[in-house]
Amino acid sequence: MTTQLDEIPVARRLTPPVSQQQGLSARLLLLLLLAGSTLAGTVVFLRSNQNMSPLLPPSAELMPPPEADGRLLGHFSYPIAREADLVEVVPGRRLHGDAAAAFLAMQQDAEVDGVQLRLLSAFRDQETQHDLFFSIMVERSQRPEERAQVSAPPGYSEHHTGYALDLGDARHPELDLDAAFDQSAAFTWLQQHASRYHFRLSFPANNPQGVAYEPWHWRWEGSSHALELFEQTRRFHAAT
Ligand SMILES: [Zn+2]
Repeated sequence: MTTQLDEIPVARRLTPPVSQQQGLSARLLLLLLLAGSTLAGTVVFLRSNQNMSPLLPPSAELMPPPEADGRLLGHFSYPIAREADLVEVVPGRRLHGDAAAAFLAMQQDAEVDGVQLRLLSAFRDQETQHDLFFSIMVERSQRPEERAQVSAPPGYSEHHTGYALDLGDARHPELDLDAAFDQSAAFTWLQQHASRYHFRLSFPANNPQGVAYEPWHWRWEGSSHALELFEQTRRFHAAT
C-alpha cells in the first residue's frame, strides 16, 4: 500500500528536518538570489533591448508616474511618425517628408552663406529612444530625473514625430551636441534664419520644461499636423 511517505524521494526522507533557524537563512538566501537575478535580468534587458520586440514600457519601479498635464519628467508625450511619412535625408537619418524638404532648403541656403549644417540626429523610434535613455542611465548610474534633463524617456521625445532634428556645424564637429554649439557660425545662422523655414529651438536656456539647454535641437512647425503635435508644448512655454 502506498503511503504519503512513499511519494517523497528517498534522499529527501533521509534528510533530517531543517531547524527553524536554518529554514529562515535558506529563505533569506533564496530571496537574495531572486533579487540578484532580477537585477541582473534588468541590466541584461536594458542592454539588449534593441533586439526585443514588442518594446516593454519603462520599468514602473524606475520611473515616476506622469504629471497631471501628461508630462513625464518634464517631457511631453509624442506619437511615433508613420513609416510612410518618413523619408531618408542622409543615410540612416529619416525625417517626416515635409520637415525633410524644409531642412534641405535651409541647408542649401546656409551653404550659400558659407555655413555647413550637418544633420546629426533625426527621427527616432521608441526602441532607439528606450536604449538611449535607459542604457546610458544605467551606465552612468543616474536617476531617471537626472537622465531626463538631457534625454527624453521613450514615448516622450520630439524625435518620435519625425519633425525634430539635431544639427551640427560641419566645420566644428567638436561642438556637436554640446552647449558650446551656440558659439558656432551654424547656430548664429540658425538663430537668424531658421524661423523662415519654420524651425524653432525646442529647449532654450532655462526653459520651463526643466530640460537642459540644447542649442542643436530644432523642431519643424510648418504644417497644421506639426503645429498640432507641438501645441501643448508651445502653450506651456508661452504660459510660463
Ligand atoms: Zn534632439
